[in-house]
Amino acid sequence: PDTVDAKEEVIDAPPLAGVNVMNVIVVAAECAPWSKTGGLGDVAGALPKALARRGHRVMVVVPRYGNYAEPKDLSVRRRYTVAGEDLEVAYFHAYIDGVDFVFIDCPVFRHCENNIYGGNRVDSLKRMVLFCKAAVEVPWYVPCGGVCYGDGNLAFIANDWHTALLPVYLKAYYRDNGLMKYARSVLVIHNMAHQSGFRNSDSGKLNFELMILICQGRGPLEDFYHVDLQEHYFDLFKLYDPIGGDHFNIFAAGLKTADQVVTVSHGYAREVKTSEGGWGLHGIISENDWKFRGIVNGIDTKDWSPELDVHLQSDGYTNYSLETLRTGKAQCKAALQRELGLPVRESVPLIGFIGRLDTQKGVDLIAEAMPWIVGQDAQLVMLGTGRSDLEEMLRKAERENRDKVRGWVGFSVKTAHRITAGADILLMPSRFEPCGLNQLYAMKYGMVPVVHAVGGLRDTVIPFDPFNETGYGWTFDRAESGKLIHALGNCLNTYWNYKESWEGLQKRGMEQDLSWDDAAKNYEEVLITAKYQW
Ligand code: ADP
Repeated sequence: PDTVDAKEEVIDAPPLAGVNVMNVIVVAAECAPWSKTGGLGDVAGALPKALARRGHRVMVVVPRYGNYAEPKDLSVRRRYTVAGEDLEVAYFHAYIDGVDFVFIDCPVFRHCENNIYGGNRVDSLKRMVLFCKAAVEVPWYVPCGGVCYGDGNLAFIANDWHTALLPVYLKAYYRDNGLMKYARSVLVIHNMAHQSGFRNSDSGKLNFELMILICQGRGPLEDFYHVDLQEHYFDLFKLYDPIGGDHFNIFAAGLKTADQVVTVSHGYAREVKTSEGGWGLHGIISENDWKFRGIVNGIDTKDWSPELDVHLQSDGYTNYSLETLRTGKAQCKAALQRELGLPVRESVPLIGFIGRLDTQKGVDLIAEAMPWIVGQDAQLVMLGTGRSDLEEMLRKAERENRDKVRGWVGFSVKTAHRITAGADILLMPSRFEPCGLNQLYAMKYGMVPVVHAVGGLRDTVIPFDPFNETGYGWTFDRAESGKLIHALGNCLNTYWNYKESWEGLQKRGMEQDLSWDDAAKNYEEVLITAKYQW
């Protein structure tokens, strides 16, 4: 018996990184709760804490866009030249949940607090040049708890085009000069589309002409002179596409230079290698296939848990768990209906949509399906901001169907939490979705997802099988309103007529371990692979 006990103890012990304990620096353009426009902010806020729980020393580096309460000025000042301009930055620091959060302060970041990716192409490029130059030096100049990280067992995790320069600077400024030889870089692709911006709204097809002219992270070849690198690094940035010809592309350079590349789901790892999903970078991605890996995001189970959610502790809402699901969710639903000004009816299915209003999220498919949706005995709430025509669509749907539809144009974290708790069904008809977080939050809160089976949505929403009572929701295989209606129709039918199956769906969703622990373990494997690469 002694041996058995001892064995069990080992299995139950918290996972530790052991000999591979690393110094990890996550560099991101946004980090929740201080700055967030989408999933990247959530990931930068949560993954580092999960890595720290595994025993690593972890830092997040993010711009200081506003006057945040927690971080304190470390009195460290550094000067950087960006496109000929001399700029001074200050470093702020806060230690929270085992993680060092370092904020890089400069007026150029504070000026864009309300629109962190705003400004013209060159201005946003220069901001990211400054940010990456300052971030790559953090291990040397920024003492956290009195001690700098240094370069022992050091790995940077950069995110999306915004920080794709970081692996390039690590190589060009340090490794190619015999410094930081063992420091590694991982580049995470959260969304290829953000850097290459423009699809025709009607067809969803790439529009290369607009991309070349307007998009951030790419531009004419002359943009190379803003990144402050020697001539022989020029080719790293050169990318050819069929209409625009050769152009400058930061993501291309980052993908070529990073030691490892991660995409935020397995499905998306496959999709970025296709011409449709790779946004002109699929060639480079395929050439570097060997260093690619898909890791599905987790969720911050402190922030997003129906038991603990602080947004459910007032205005008639309530925290609930698997055990109190039926009464707790009913109370949240009534509170939500009241708050939204919809008739308070327990039996009516309440459908929710939360997200950026753009072509990616398939909001136009909901618009096309609207006559059918409002013809059902159902309610619909949509929360989002983005394209003005789609914002107007939300307002119009509400104006024309006041007793059934609420179109909430705005960005409200509190409302997002309350919809997730109070609504029954999440609609997520994204044309493409690298990972998607809302479907994960939904399942954790007993909200059943109806999604287009693409990218991370396909990986995470296993379709309901009524014969075996398995699965978590409904999927449809093409981004078309007819397909959406078919899937939503099946979902509503189950809600109305098969209560036990419905509760089974809710419970299976809630029982899943969607925390960051698993994902952090996979990230750790990537870091270790990078460490032993050469
Ligand atoms: P993406 O990163 O492509 O925008 P994700 O589903 O990965 O999509 O993450 C979106 C995150 O942003 C989620 O946390 C979601 O709740 C949040 N979000 C999006 N739009 C809004 C909004 N209008 N109000 C509040 N939160 C929002």
